[in-house]
Amino acid sequence: MNCDLIVVGGGPAGMLSASTAAAKGLKVILLEKNDKLGKKLFITGKGRCNVTNYGDRDDFFHHVMTNPKFLYSAFKTFDNNDLLALLTSLGVPTKVERGNRVFPASDKSSDIIKALQKHMQLGNVCIKLQTEIKKILVKNHRVTGVLLHDDKQISAPKVILATGGMSYRQTGSTGDGYKMAQQLGHTIIEPKPALIPLITQEKWVKDLQGLTLKNVSVKAIINNKVQAEQFGEMIFTHFGVSGPIILSISSLIKKHIHPPTNKPIQISIDLKPALTDEQLDARLQRDFNKYSVKQLKNAFDDLLPKRMIATFLQLSGLDIHKQVNQISKKERDLLVHTLKGIPLTVTGTRPLNEAIVTSGGIHVKEINPSTMESKIVQGLYFAGEIIDVDALTGGYNLQIAFSTAYLSGLSAARV
Ligand code: FAD
Repeated sequence: MNCDLIVVGGGPAGMLSASTAAAKGLKVILLEKNDKLGKKLFITGKGRCNVTNYGDRDDFFHHVMTNPKFLYSAFKTFDNNDLLALLTSLGVPTKVERGNRVFPASDKSSDIIKALQKHMQLGNVCIKLQTEIKKILVKNHRVTGVLLHDDKQISAPKVILATGGMSYRQTGSTGDGYKMAQQLGHTIIEPKPALIPLITQEKWVKDLQGLTLKNVSVKAIINNKVQAEQFGEMIFTHFGVSGPIILSISSLIKKHIHPPTNKPIQISIDLKPALTDEQLDARLQRDFNKYSVKQLKNAFDDLLPKRMIATFLQLSGLDIHKQVNQISKKERDLLVHTLKGIPLTVTGTRPLNEAIVTSGGIHVKEINPSTMESKIVQGLYFAGEIIDVDALTGGYNLQIAFSTAYLSGLSAARV
C-alpha cells in the first residue's frame, strides 16, 4: 500500500493534520489503534469539549506552561479564530463561556469529532482503525514508511506522529510515539503529570470528600513565598484536593513537585477572598449578633457550606460549644485568620495516568518550529501532545493540538 503521507494517531492532532494535508492534495492514510477516532477528545470538557479559548494571542501564550516560544509559528499559521472558522464551515456553531472558554453550541464533544471526520472525508483520507503502529521505518535519515503490529509495512515518504501523551491510557494514549521517536534518535523529556490533582498530608480532607468550594482563592506557598494563586472552584477528595484551580496550581508549581525538592509545599485556601480581614470581622460580628445565644458550631450556617463548619472550627482550635456572645475579639481574629487561610500540606500528585495532560515528550530543540518537521529524520513530523508543550485548562491544550497539527499537515504537503 502506498501513499504520500501516513498520520499515526486519530486524536484531534492526527485528524486535523491528515485533513489539512489531504485538502492540499496529498494522498493520506490515517492509522488509529482504537476501534474509533478521538476517544480522548470525546471525554474532554466533561463531554462538552472546551475546544479552544477566545482570548487573544498574548493570552494564549500566557497560558502555555512549557515552551510557549516553540508554538509561535504554529499559532500564527492556525490560531483560535482559524479553528472557529473551520468548525463553522463544517457545520459546528460554537459558544463562548466564562473565561473565554469555547464549546460547541450543542455541548457535545461528539460534534467536534464528527466535524473532523467530515473534514477528512472531504479530502478522501483513508482511515484505518484497529491498526497499531510499532515502528517508523527510516533509511538514510529519511522516512520510508511504518511497520504495523502484525509486521505488515506501509510505505510513504512522510509520516506525522500524533500519538498523544501518556495519561488516561484507556483512551489509547500510551506513550507509543515516545518510544518510536526515541528509537530514531529523538530525546524524550521525561513524561510527568500536569493538570493533576494534589495529594495532601492532612487526613481531614477525607471527611469533606465530594465537597465543592466555589469562589475561593488558593495559594501555593514554598519557602514562605507565594508561587501561584488561583481563584475559582475546587473540590475535596479522599486523597487531597482537585478541581479546576487545583489542576492549574499543579501545573504552575510543577517544577517544585517534580522531582520532589524536599521543600514543603503549603496550600492555603481563602474561603472569603472578596472580603478583607476587617470586612470579614464586621460580617462575623453581624452573624454573631444574630446567633448570640447559640453555640459557636451553630453560628456559621450563613457563612460556610454546612459540611465545612466542623472542620473549619476544629482548625481554628476554638471550643465549638462556647456560646457566641462569649467570643472575644482575639477569638474572632483567630476565626478570621482561619477563614482566610485553611492550611494544607502537599505531599505529591496523583499518578500520570490521571493527568489531564502530559508534561514532557519530544524535545522541542529537535523539531523545526516553522514546519513541525524532525531535525533528525527527514519527512517525520510531530503534532499535538506528543511534543514537550502543555498549557493550563481553558481550551489551550486542544488549541496546541490543532495549531501544531495544521502546521504539520501544511508542511508535509509542501514539496
Ligand atoms: P490524543 O488525543 O491522545 O490522541 C492520540 C491518538 O493516537 C489516540 O487516539 C491513540 O489511540 C492513538 N495512538 C497512540 N499510539 C498509537 C499507535 N502506536 N498506533 C496507532 N495509533 C496510536 N484539552 C482542552 O483543551 N480542553 C478540554 O476540555 C480538555 N479536557 C480534557 C479532559 C480530560 C479528562 C483529559 C484526559 C484531557 C483533556 N484535555 C482537554 C486535553 C486534550 O484532550 C489533549 O491535550 C488532546 O487530546 C491531545 O490531542 P492529541 O491528538 O495530541 O492526542
